[in-house]
Amino acid sequence: MSTPASTAEFLPHTLWHQRLFTGSWQAGNAVSSAVIEPASGLSLGEVALADATQIASSAQQAAEAQRGWYQLPYEERAALLRKTAQLAETHFASIVDWLVRESGSTQAKAAFETNITIKALYESAALPSRAQGEVLPSSAGRLSLARRRPRGVIGVISPFNFPLYLAMRAVAPALATGNAVVLKPDPRTAVCGGLVIARLFELAGLPKGLLHVLPGGAEAGAALTSDRHIAMIQFTGSTGAGRKVGEAAGKHLKKVSLELGGKNALIVLDDADLDLALANATWGVYLHQGQICMSTGRLLVQRGIYQRFLDKLVTKARSLVVGDPASSEVHLGPLINAQQRDHAAQVVKAAVEAGASLDAGGTYEGLFFQPTVLSGVTRDNPAFHEEIFGPVAVVIPFDTDEHAIELANDTDYGLSAAILSQNVGRALKLGEQLRVGLLHINDQTVNDEVINPFGGVGASGNGTSIGGPANWEEFTQWQWLTVKGDAPAYPL
Ligand code: NAD
Repeated sequence: MSTPASTAEFLPHTLWHQRLFTGSWQAGNAVSSAVIEPASGLSLGEVALADATQIASSAQQAAEAQRGWYQLPYEERAALLRKTAQLAETHFASIVDWLVRESGSTQAKAAFETNITIKALYESAALPSRAQGEVLPSSAGRLSLARRRPRGVIGVISPFNFPLYLAMRAVAPALATGNAVVLKPDPRTAVCGGLVIARLFELAGLPKGLLHVLPGGAEAGAALTSDRHIAMIQFTGSTGAGRKVGEAAGKHLKKVSLELGGKNALIVLDDADLDLALANATWGVYLHQGQICMSTGRLLVQRGIYQRFLDKLVTKARSLVVGDPASSEVHLGPLINAQQRDHAAQVVKAAVEAGASLDAGGTYEGLFFQPTVLSGVTRDNPAFHEEIFGPVAVVIPFDTDEHAIELANDTDYGLSAAILSQNVGRALKLGEQLRVGLLHINDQTVNDEVINPFGGVGASGNGTSIGGPANWEEFTQWQWLTVKGDAPAYPL
């Protein structure tokens, strides 16, 4: 394996190879899994996978460690999160390198992801010093408080696409608000989405037992969801897996936060600047090869500008450079694995069979999928409904604003939507009718500033949000506390 010196220094191969993290680096009980670089197919090492026994033991240790953690002065929890953020800044290049190599991110996407992860750590460091409740009116001489308490141990299940940030956006606020965490990253990105986080907190001096990072697949996730020491599951991933996690959490009476898939509409109104519309659409569709929950899954373009916009998009798609992001400057890297690639190829094929026109791309070499444009996609076409999770623009004409609303809302998903227009009033009026958790006027669909509440409706999630003001609500629970000078003399 070839790793830059700085990367080896931050996360030495001997430390993580065939290991998982329980406060120390341990061999697992189950088999190891190869860490594959999707661009080259090379193995970068192996991580230990966790089995159900390991999950149970970690969840119990985390529950024990959590009690002491919550008792610490709030400044100590804040200081630890700040230190973790500083360490991420120090090891920025190594973290970016891991994201590029293990998740197939371009340099720019990896740098952006590392930056928002650092921001999430600093924002979480500000949580412990915030007011944690309210004083309620009560009878004379009785102090009545509503206060937020940690939930206990939070199980975090995270996906492969923005692996570092989507894990950290839950791990950091959960720890900051006094919880312990068991993180199960996707086995395809177990290092950049898991062991990097373990290493940062280890270097920062997080007390042992508070954070466990246990790579594993669906079985490990299911074991985590049913473990009695886990108070809440924060899950980010597909709607199919989210449904199973939601069902299991319901059975075991756990709080569950589900951040799921999307089929997000970018609506281009006929008064939009065409070049800006093109730049927004290109970003929304092709960033990280379209492997983002907020990726623009439907490009709705008003009839009067449809053909001119489509011509520009096709030219743009053909000009984008696809290749290995570790060795050259590229716009698009590889898809994560053959399964994701085959899914994208299958939807494109089915779309063409159902009458769509393939105007660019549609082909691949290895995991490198060419930027693709499908036009003339109608409502009965599979590309209209399915989340593709690949670099495929699905372009659809519409006539009136009402027609755009109807098309955009014709999905079970409800994550993100965006509208481009020089008439903000018109765009806002249209936007008010869209059933989504994230709405952007004069921007594209892929947006996250860390300090905003993030979450979808319908098949995109169960209506909880993560981030910014939502974090206290998400990772803590109310306790009613009353205090009197003397106990009352009840008459019974
Ligand atoms: P996935 O559902 O296959 O996997 C996500 C995680 O869940 C992985 O860690 C996986 O091992 C685990 N998992 C799978 N089955 C499980 C089960 N039965 N029980 C418990 N855990 C299980 O999703 P993916 O393919 O890795 O990610 C792509 C999907 O995630 C897309 O649908 C995308 O839209 C969605 N996503 C949503 C958001 C969001 O914030 N809304 C962000 C990123 C990705």
